[in-house]
Amino acid sequence: MTDPFTPPERVGFIGLGKMGAPMTRNLKRAGFQLALNDLDPALARDLGKELDAPVYERVSDLARACRVVITMLPDGRIVREVALGRDGAPDTGLADALPAGSVLIDMSSSAPVGTRTLGEELARRGIHMIDAPVSGGVRRAVSGQLAVMIGGDSAVIDRCRPLLGAMGSQLFVVGGLGAGDAIKCLNNYVSATGLLAAAEGLVAAQRFGLDPHKALEVLNASTGKNNATEVKFAQFILSRSFGSGFSIGLMAKDLRTALDLAAAVAAPMPLGQHCVPLWNEAEQALGGNADHTEIVRILERVTGSDLR
Ligand code: NAD
Repeated sequence: MTDPFTPPERVGFIGLGKMGAPMTRNLKRAGFQLALNDLDPALARDLGKELDAPVYERVSDLARACRVVITMLPDGRIVREVALGRDGAPDTGLADALPAGSVLIDMSSSAPVGTRTLGEELARRGIHMIDAPVSGGVRRAVSGQLAVMIGGDSAVIDRCRPLLGAMGSQLFVVGGLGAGDAIKCLNNYVSATGLLAAAEGLVAAQRFGLDPHKALEVLNASTGKNNATEVKFAQFILSRSFGSGFSIGLMAKDLRTALDLAAAVAAPMPLGQHCVPLWNEAEQALGGNADHTEIVRILERVTGSDLR
């Protein structure tokens, strides 16, 4: 398939939150034009002004202006609703208006099985879909250095490379549709268990009388270091800023997806059986909008400690 999406192609972008907004800025910087939609009208209006981009209240109207649309939404259920419309209501989904041959790139962290089903439904209407969830957090969304995990038809992926390369510096094509979502939720499973293990270790170290800052320094010079010890503990937890920009609700959602995936393929995940409920409980106790690094507060509460 030829005809890659190159600047100044107009790209529809739906979901302008902590990740979506900086990703649109990088698309604009790369020379793409944009068309925007978000449930929060003020957010969309302000970003539209900044990027000189039209804002559409209805996604079907946005779809009439574009051949390619990116979604960066909380989960796959919402992506499905945006793509196919609300039950029975005419002209409420992208598929009501996107021309045949157009492409939906879902960059949200969605559930892989749901992505496959949605892709099949869109294919019947002549619309292509790839999944391209990301890792790297708000910091790398801002710098345009996200890791992008891509699933789908390779010819469609090739058409989308100029777009994806404007937002990410590492593009991994990992398999068919849904494969990106699969490795994304598994990545967050590995990341979340690492954060929890480090938190448990540091709370125990402190209770033994060590300074948590010193204990962290030792971990980071030793084999116990991981992504959380290197880029989260000092920055967001010991500093008490809890400002990573990734909510505990979204993390818990990804972990439930990982457990579901493991169950569906009969892969053992005994550690996950213990760890994921702790994240679900923390989401309940702290509220879904709390930063995911605040899970440490739960351990501190139980032990009466404070890792400050
Ligand atoms: P966010 O909550 O900041 O943004 C989501 C946006 O989607 C909001 O602006 C919301 O108003 C909008 N929205 C919700 N429902 C909508 C609908 N029906 N139509 C239009 N807009 C709608 O979330 P985020 O942190 O930007 O995360 C977005 C996705 O990226 C999630 O799937 C998340 O798991 C994933 N992700 C987040 C991070 C991170 O560090 N924040 C990192 C990697 C991946």
